[in-house]
Amino acid sequence: MTPEQSREFTARLEQAAIALLEMEIYRKPDDLARRFGLPLPVVRYWWRQTDEKTHPVDQNSLSPREGKVIRKATQTLEGWEKVKRYRPPCGARLPGGKKCKRSVAIRQPEGWSLGALADRCRLHGGHSKRVRRLPTGEDEQETPT
Ligand SMILES: [Zn+2]
Repeated sequence: MTPEQSREFTARLEQAAIALLEMEIYRKPDDLARRFGLPLPVVRYWWRQTDEKTHPVDQNSLSPREGKVIRKATQTLEGWEKVKRYRPPCGARLPGGKKCKRSVAIRQPEGWSLGALADRCRLHGGHSKRVRRLPTGEDEQETPT
């Protein structure tokens, strides 16, 4: 997963989480976080960035459109478990020309704006809060959101 893909994927998670919270499918960010195995501080932060207003839907008589939105958002969030489990290898060069096969790190909550997955394992800087310097020197290119 490239840094861009990691960021995009994380943005999709965020959208899906907010959609479900706005519809009050989950009452609290913590409920949603637990259900999908997301870090609590991250979901709380996402929710605080919104106006925190809900538009509850009647879960006993959902319109087809609402049903679809809920299913899609749920699927997106369920995808997180898979991404967590099957993270790509770190790939850092080791002495002797081999590449590190450890899974890339999951970033600490405060780093999720860079994408949930780091591009290195924890031993190779995956927990760093900055984007690793790219070979071309185009580091720290924060795209405004
Ligand atoms: Zn590594």
